[in-house]
Amino acid sequence: MARQENKPKVRRSLQTRLAIGYAAIIAALLILLNTYPLITTQNLMFRSQQTALQNQAALVTNSLTTADELTPETVEQTITPLEDLDVQRVLITDEAGLVLYDTGENSQVGKYALTREVVSALRGSDAFASEYQDGVFSSRAASPIMTRNTVVGAVCLYEADSSQGVLLNEIQNNLRLISLVVCLAVLALFTAFSRMLTRRVSMLLAGIRRVREGEYTHRVSLDGQDELGQLADEFNQLTGRLQTTEEERRRFVSDASHELKTPLASIRLLTDSILQDENIDRETTLEFVGDIGEAADRLIHISQELLALNRLDEGRAILREPVEVNREAEKTCRMLAPLAEEAQVTLEKNLGPDCAARCSREDVDQIFRNLMENAIKYNVPGGKVIVTTAREGDQIRLEVADTGVGIPREDMDRIFERFYRVDKARSRAAGGTGLGLSIVRDTVRSHGGQISVAPREEGGTVFTVYLPVWKEEAP
Ligand code: ADP
Repeated sequence: MARQENKPKVRRSLQTRLAIGYAAIIAALLILLNTYPLITTQNLMFRSQQTALQNQAALVTNSLTTADELTPETVEQTITPLEDLDVQRVLITDEAGLVLYDTGENSQVGKYALTREVVSALRGSDAFASEYQDGVFSSRAASPIMTRNTVVGAVCLYEADSSQGVLLNEIQNNLRLISLVVCLAVLALFTAFSRMLTRRVSMLLAGIRRVREGEYTHRVSLDGQDELGQLADEFNQLTGRLQTTEEERRRFVSDASHELKTPLASIRLLTDSILQDENIDRETTLEFVGDIGEAADRLIHISQELLALNRLDEGRAILREPVEVNREAEKTCRMLAPLAEEAQVTLEKNLGPDCAARCSREDVDQIFRNLMENAIKYNVPGGKVIVTTAREGDQIRLEVADTGVGIPREDMDRIFERFYRVDKARSRAAGGTGLGLSIVRDTVRSHGGQISVAPREEGGTVFTVYLPVWKEEAP
């Protein structure tokens, strides 16, 4: 298999995506900032121009309404007194659009001025148009001149205003300056932020790579309590668990090899003794072969227990059936009676009614056998083992108590660990492997139960197991 590259290629980095996202948002904001205020100001200016021009147009049309007939002379006479007209050009036509009066540079008097605004005014409605170009607002307003409800002419006023254009230009320049400052500030902020983000993500990635290479003691230290900080915390916890699992695995391998080494070494020693001593008598040979057989039994026992643990680790298919635990307790007592007798230990039973557990018969046997064997092995001559069963709500309680040597408090938390023994010599002498209780704990847990251990007040130890009760409707 090709070796995995150390640094996988990042097709489109987080940083690039963020940069594109930010750039799009900022561009949209800047376009808005550079258009909306300008358009609004322009509209306001158009409107104020419109009001001003239309007011003045109304003034002119009102004064002309009283004139008997519109001729260049009558118009001139009427308009001249209106000195306070503040417009660039005044143009007045008759009802046909013929110019009667014009203050423009190229006077149109005597010609027809049928602009859109004039035509609209001659049809009886006010008209206004304005445009902004090169800093100048050019506006036109036209109104009809009415006499006895009839249109007799039109007034069209022109105005070109550059002062407002200057104002608009200033606003535009200011907005450009603000945009530039915003762009630079965002760029600086983004660079700083993305550098910080990249640095922290790189630290996290470097940490992951080191742990991947097997450095389970490595921890990532990221400051801050944000999402990346939390990710680093979670990663550290995960690495901690990996470290524990790895340490457990190493300890297990070393303990297992150690356990296997002892019987193998004695087999080697015994066979060497038989083979190398030419004058060895038959009796000694038989004794040595018997010892070899015992060592082989021990190896078989250890490998059986290791296989049992392995099956539990692999999550074997669990059989769930109604198990009358009292029947299994009686059976185990019968089986272990010779061992108890040999150890001068009395077996007592205290079995309650209605004790069907949701478990498998074989596993209940395994639990009772391991716990009771221990209770006999680690007992004293004349001692007792008391087996109790009881139904407690939705659970069945199995209890194995003894009056034996007891377990020191500091060892109680560890006796369920694989290969852990309190009194190594006594355990080995009794054929123990240090695996029995781990098998019991894993079996109980695989059925959704719990196991605990406590010292007995009167001396000795009590192991308590809870298994779920069998219910017909249970799947
Ligand atoms: P072993 O095969 O050595 O008995 P176990 O896993 O069954 O292994 O038990 C682990 C250790 O716990 C034993 O070595 C023993 O020191 C201690 N232990 C177990 N049960 C008892 C008990 N009833 N009384 C005292 N010590 C016990």
